[in-house]
Amino acid sequence: METKDVFCKIVDGEIPCYKLYEDEDVLAFLDISQVTKGHALVICKKHYPNFLATPQETMHKVMDVAQRIGQVQIKMLGAKGVNILSNCYEAAGQTVNHFHVHVIPRYEKQEGFVLEMKENNKDLNLPSIQEQIKL
Ligand code: 5GP
Repeated sequence: METKDVFCKIVDGEIPCYKLYEDEDVLAFLDISQVTKGHALVICKKHYPNFLATPQETMHKVMDVAQRIGQVQIKMLGAKGVNILSNCYEAAGQTVNHFHVHVIPRYEKQEGFVLEMKENNKDLNLPSIQEQIKL
């Protein structure tokens, strides 16, 4: 039998958390590792491995709550910005295989969370890439 992931345990009340929001399908709580003050996680209660593997309706419900949490972080914590991200698969840094969205309030440049997107274009063939991934 597959072992239960940590977020399924939180949903089932086997592990405590600092809840921010709960409804039938969605749970939001503080991340145990606060990369910045108020760093929140929004998850679906039903188990899906990640964002890419979650049915659209459920994904939309989670994103709706993530948006609301971000708005409150700005209003109530005085955050100047918010990063919203969902890591999909180990190669992208996912450590808990249960769909979740990080909502990370940002106050200053130097914080526990650093997102750096450097140009890495080199000799990439953009028309060919476009053909491969356009919807
Ligand atoms: P990932 O790396 O998969 O995108 O993020 C997983 C997140 O879950 C991490 O930021 C980690 O701190 C958080 N996390 C792991 N275990 C627990 C836990 O037991 N409680 C809470 N609140 N957060 C957890």
